[in-house]
Parts: sequence; structure tokens; C-alpha cells
Amino acid sequence: MPALLSVKLDPFGDLQTDMVTVNEHFLKLKSGYLFPEIGRRVSAFKERNPGVELIKMGIGDVTQPLAPAVVDAMHRAVDEMGVGESFRGYDDGGVGYAFLRSAIVEGDFSSRGVDLDLDEVFVSDGAKCDTGNMQEIFGLDNRIAVADPVYPVYVDTNVMAGRTGSADAIGHYEGVCYMPATAENQFVPAPPETPVDLIYLCFPNNPTGAVATRADLSDWVAYARDRKAIILYDAAYEAFITESDIPHTIYEVDGAKEVAIEFRSFSKKAGFTGVRCGYSVVPRELKAHTKQGQPVDVRMLWHRRHCTKFNGVSYVTQVGAAAVYSPQGSRQTQATIDYYLGNARVIREALAKLGYTVFGGVNAPYLWLKTPAGIDSWGFFDRLLQQAHVVGTPGVGFGPSGEGYVRLTAFAQSEHVAEALDRIARL
Ligand SMILES: *Cc1c(COP(=O)(O)O)cnc(C)c1O
Repeated sequence: MPALLSVKLDPFGDLQTDMVTVNEHFLKLKSGYLFPEIGRRVSAFKERNPGVELIKMGIGDVTQPLAPAVVDAMHRAVDEMGVGESFRGYDDGGVGYAFLRSAIVEGDFSSRGVDLDLDEVFVSDGAKCDTGNMQEIFGLDNRIAVADPVYPVYVDTNVMAGRTGSADAIGHYEGVCYMPATAENQFVPAPPETPVDLIYLCFPNNPTGAVATRADLSDWVAYARDRKAIILYDAAYEAFITESDIPHTIYEVDGAKEVAIEFRSFSKKAGFTGVRCGYSVVPRELKAHTKQGQPVDVRMLWHRRHCTKFNGVSYVTQVGAAAVYSPQGSRQTQATIDYYLGNARVIREALAKLGYTVFGGVNAPYLWLKTPAGIDSWGFFDRLLQQAHVVGTPGVGFGPSGEGYVRLTAFAQSEHVAEALDRIARL
């Protein structure tokens, strides 16, 4: 009976074959439904309506070129790499060159009254990777909390790791605490009643465009300190904050260094979606615990993880990122942010004038548009596509609390934004 020979018992008594098995947690993933479905509907429309020009206001990618100061710096860096004396190999340690980490500490934190050491800053290839990878250093028994609607990376990476059960009919995974972000709470959830350990917060928010006030963040920091929880704070859209009383970093709140990790990205701030650079801040004060209750330095764990699995961002890219903080670079990148925020204002005002209820777009490149009464997210998505030839993103795709909304982005060219609004006005 040769077949039996290939069957062995594992220590837990489950039957196994000699086939390669997969990480079955991946099979729990509600596999990438939103953007493929949008793509399917858009292709079907195009097939039936050849020659119709669609305006894309759905995808969260930038459109404007890099700042000239960044391009110049990167050119110079390439030339340095071509000369023996200035050639560089591995970025020592892979955590980022000191010149970039100093520029970050100065430009993004000291300027806001927050002191950080260079070794609390870890340069990476972007905030998607960091927000996705950070969960690895925490135990599988931690309970995670996310907003609903949510940037899917936070949830999916925890599903892959095995920190959740299966998804239910509305796409919520068992064991995850979902915190509804609705018009009633201004899209800023309050700390939950149920105890949670790892809390993902994103402000300015994708997809709702909402921001957290100092009072909101103080509540969260107090909760985390009280419950020994950790906040994973995604500030990828920090550069879009316009209102002077909105914190740019969670560390503006006293005591946050003991309970929060912050993620930043040059993607939306400086058009680096195709260049790839971001960073994480893991403060020295931040501790988690062993099961026996021994405190462990989270920064050391992240350092170990980062240097084991990552070998640093290219020198050319880091020089480009540092140039974002030069006087010219910051002026030029700010001008591009202002261009997007100008689009956001035009969209907000035009839609409000048409009688729509619209949130966001003041401190964020996203607008969260309430669908007209009686039409759901996909219904309004279809109406925009079919009748206005505008592509948005159905809010329900980010979570059930997004039902009744469509997300529009301000990243399009201004001419296209104006044209899209004309078309929406004629609906
Ligand atoms: C775009 C975005 C990021 C940035 O990702 P990168 O990998 O740095 O390009 C991070 N978080 C959110 C919520 C985003 O929308």
C-alpha cells in the first residue's frame, strides 16, 4: 500500500501528506474584491462605449511630477554612484542614512516641538510595507482594532499572520474589533468598550478624509496608556493638513511616545508612489511585554526585524527624499500639495452647491461623498460611471460602514476635475 507510506502523523495527530502545504490563513482573505470589480465594470463600460473619455477619480495615486529640487538631487546622486570615490554600496544597517534621518527629525518633528533621536527613525520603501510588517513583532494573541471603513492593509496582514478567524458575510473577520467611523462621530471612532491591544489609526484618513483633533488623539493615548495597548498611527497624509490646530504627529500629544508607533511616507507628500520611500518612528520609550509580563523594548524588536528582512532604500532615493526638506524642495512639494488641495476645494464646493453632502477634502486629498437617498455605494458608482463617465470608489468597498458613500480623490489634473464636475452637474 504505497499510498500509506506517504502519510505521516504530525505531533498533534493531524494527518499530513508529503505535499507542500500552504499558510491556510491566506485562504481566509476576501481576495481583492474592490479594485478588480471596479476594473471589471469600467472595462465593460468601455467595451460598450468605445471612444467615451472616462475621468478617473478613484485610485489613490498621485499625478504630478517630482519636484525639480528632488530630481536634481537624484541626478547628482546617480553621478556620485558612478565615481569610485563617492560610490556607495549597502546603506550601513539598512535603517537609512543619517543625512535623511536628520532631515526627517528636524523637518517633521523638532519643528513641531517633538524631540526624536535618529535611532528612533527607520527609513523604508514605504508605509504600506511598514504598516503591513509591523504586526510581525507582536504576539498572535493580540486583539487588533481598526476603523470601519479601513485601509485594507492593516486587516489583511493580520489575517495572513493568523491573528483572526474567518470573514463573515459582510467581510468582517472574527476576532477583529471594528470601530465604525460614521458621520455621527465625524469619522473618528472613540476607544472601544471591549479591550483591544493593537489599534490602527489613520489620520488624515483614507478613505474618509477625516482628521483627528488633539482631544481625539489625547483620548486614544490615554486609553492606550490605561490598557497597555499600542497605537499604530498611519500619518501618510500628514502633509495635507491645513487647519492649524490639527496635530501633524501623534507625538504632539503628551505621553504618546510610550504607546505609539508612527508611519510616514513620501508617496503622497512628495509624489514618491513610484520612487518608494517612507519611514517609521518607534520611540525608545515604547514597551510591550512577554507573556510573563517582562517589558520588551519594541524599538529593538523592530530594528532586528527591519535589518533581517530589509537591506535599505537606495542611496539615490534617500538623497531625493532628503531634498524634500531643502528650502526649494519643500516649497516645490508644498506647491503640488496645494494644487491637489485646490482640486479638493473645487470638488467640495461644487458638489455642496449641487446639494450633495460631502466630507473631507480640507486636510486630505480624499472626499467622502454621501450618495443620494435611495442609492447605495455601487449604485452611485454605476451612475457616475454610466452617466457622468467619472470613476469613483464605492465606499462600501472599504467596509460596511462605508455603505452609502463614494470616495473621490483630488489627485486628478485640475482640467479633468473641472470637466468631471460639469458632467456630475448634468446628472
Ligand atoms: C497611500 C497610503 C500609504 C502609503 O503607502 P506607500 O507604501 O508609502 O506608498 C499608507 N497608508 C495609507 C492609508 C495610504 O493611503
